[in-house]
Amino acid sequence: MGAGGLGCPAAFYLAAAGLGRITLADADKVDLTNLQRQILYRTDSVGRQKVDAARAALNAVNPEVDLVTINERIEPARANELVAKADIVLDCSDNFPTRHALNRACVKHRKPLVSGAAMRFDAQLMVFDLRKADAPCYACLFPEDGEVEEVQCSVMGVFAPLTGVIGAMQAMEAIKLLVGIGEPSGLSMVDARNGEWRSVRVKKDPGCKVCGK
Ligand SMILES: [Zn+2]
Repeated sequence: MGAGGLGCPAAFYLAAAGLGRITLADADKVDLTNLQRQILYRTDSVGRQKVDAARAALNAVNPEVDLVTINERIEPARANELVAKADIVLDCSDNFPTRHALNRACVKHRKPLVSGAAMRFDAQLMVFDLRKADAPCYACLFPEDGEVEEVQCSVMGVFAPLTGVIGAMQAMEAIKLLVGIGEPSGLSMVDARNGEWRSVRVKKDPGCKVCGK
């Protein structure tokens, strides 16, 4: 979900790895200011729909990947429909309504959610393996009614290589899940200014309004 700073590198590695089918959803057009981090696009992509430009770039790397492109802003009902058909969901979006809609759908259909976010010099990664009954969901960490500061990269800016790091890690976690290697990542946070990573194990919140009973 999202073919921007996180979605571009994530989709690149997944397509290059030869995933069978990748569904890419994004309603935006490529803007010149996207090019420092949205690495599937080139100067001549400016003005094109992101999913169309992304499809061309990904098929150039691997023509055998079945790419499904969805040129629309994803509402909850649509998220539900798309998540039901997916094996793994990568949240590469930039806003809380989309994040929560994806989370609800992943909880409902018990699909693993690989969540990434980057803003300014801060970023985070976490896998919510919702196939497991005791796994936390995104709303255990960030409640839907919580007070959040909704700021987007398009407004606040983001350190471009950091989106590449997190997007590549999302692809890594997705491949791990698909082939069953190791353990999914807990919450990992990095401050790019000092290169310090922090990892936290997040527990399911029994009072969570989305996944709690
Ligand atoms: Zn929850």
